[in-house]
Amino acid sequence: MIQARIGNGEENFMSFGKSGAKIYADSDVKTTFADVAGQDKAKETLSEIVDFLHNPQKYTDIGATLPKGALLVGPPGTGKTLIARAVAGEANVPFFAISGSEFVQMFVGMGAAKVRDLFRQANEKAPCIIFIDEIDAIGKRRDSGLSGNDEREQTLNQLLTEMDGFDGRKGVVILATTNRPESLDKALLRPGRFDRRIQMELPDLEGRKAIINVHLKKVQCDNINLDVVARATAGSSGAELANIVNEAALRAVRMGRHKVTTADLEESVETVIAGVQKKGKVISDNEKKIVSYHEIGHALVAALQSHSAPVHKITIVPRTSGALGYTMQVDKGEQVLMSRDDIFNRIATLTGGRAAEEIVLGSISTGASNDMEQATKLARAMVTRYGMSNKYDMMGLETVNNTYLGGDSSLICSAETAAEIDREVLKIIKEAHQKAHNIIAEHMDIMHEAASFLLDKETITGKEFMQIVHKYYNK
Ligand code: ADP
Ligand code: MG
Ligand code: ZN
Repeated sequence: MIQARIGNGEENFMSFGKSGAKIYADSDVKTTFADVAGQDKAKETLSEIVDFLHNPQKYTDIGATLPKGALLVGPPGTGKTLIARAVAGEANVPFFAISGSEFVQMFVGMGAAKVRDLFRQANEKAPCIIFIDEIDAIGKRRDSGLSGNDEREQTLNQLLTEMDGFDGRKGVVILATTNRPESLDKALLRPGRFDRRIQMELPDLEGRKAIINVHLKKVQCDNINLDVVARATAGSSGAELANIVNEAALRAVRMGRHKVTTADLEESVETVIAGVQKKGKVISDNEKKIVSYHEIGHALVAALQSHSAPVHKITIVPRTSGALGYTMQVDKGEQVLMSRDDIFNRIATLTGGRAAEEIVLGSISTGASNDMEQATKLARAMVTRYGMSNKYDMMGLETVNNTYLGGDSSLICSAETAAEIDREVLKIIKEAHQKAHNIIAEHMDIMHEAASFLLDKETITGKEFMQIVHKYYNK
């Protein structure tokens, strides 16, 4: 039998509250972490909350307070709602769910009262989870926009009050999700509120395989070539992959078969992804290649300058930030003092992405704008603030205005000097760019092998990268 899901399988809810309050508590959530593929980091963080809900006493006895709230952040369809339910399922506690947009649309004029109601009910049922889906609908920054929305503001204020007021030791945990963390009111992110942030990202190749596998368990199938399907869906979210499996099952039914085949999946990839491609979310093979070389360029320049693994992980799965590729640098503890060489090498590393594109592909892309910004900032600071140019010796050319408020700075020198500074900055950047260029040009074997590894697997760890480096380069 094929179990194709038509429509969405809403679960049965119990309704609580007076005056027809639409607050639902699901007291028997069946979703568990096993239903969420990949996202190991998120699961690890949430496990602690699960443990706390199982046994609050263990934590309170020692005097620890767990975070009252955790915010799940990430692009649509990455499983934020799913994993929140899974926490309730794992902890086996009631799950009070409400979505931010419901507050705005359905509880007109009574948002604040609903929030109060929600917390009151939750308190009675503790330990339990309060889940606010898409919290940005009520939690938008209050200072943004003109007069603002009184109703929303009152609802938000009530939420803040309730979060401060309730006793975190009782075992009420608040989970919330958002696709737009930057739009949230800062007050929500203060300690004692949503002070834990859990990032959910789009899955890489292995992640996609795992997700497809989870969903294939719900349908009848045999001998599916997971690799083929996973490779065809780079850039897809978990929700899209779930949809693909379901479409494939529907197709099998249409064709009068009892089992889903790889061909069904391939076919439905095209139907589902065609829509996605229009939205420009799926990256093309050529783009992937550019991004791979670009990121490996950074990594190689960093590695050969420092002689150690420069990165924790590189992935070419599009990120929440909009970056196509991503190089995760390992911070070797807090480095307070940086030498001239340190900064110069850092600038060279930043130019490594572009340098790789120039050498390997003979053309350059727009993918380096963030690198340029950072490199320029560093080079400028070398000249104006750190006294690291020969020309100006130890003359301070810039003051930082608000050290504690992000620190924008202003020049304290004549206009001629300002122009001269620009030339000095350019000189440093050019030198660093040339250095990166040379390093890459001399180690093309490493470039090609590492980039094709990344292109194939979509992720490369620092360790895997260094193995390739050491194959060709021993020092
Ligand atoms: P979000 O809340 O992040 O927009 P959802 O949690 O609503 O995403 O995900 C929608 C559906 O996509 C889920 O119900 C599930 O079927 C599927 N899905 C998303 N991510 C995963 C995952 N990591 N593992 C398994 N299924 C997933
Ligand atoms: Mg959701
Ligand atoms: Zn870059």
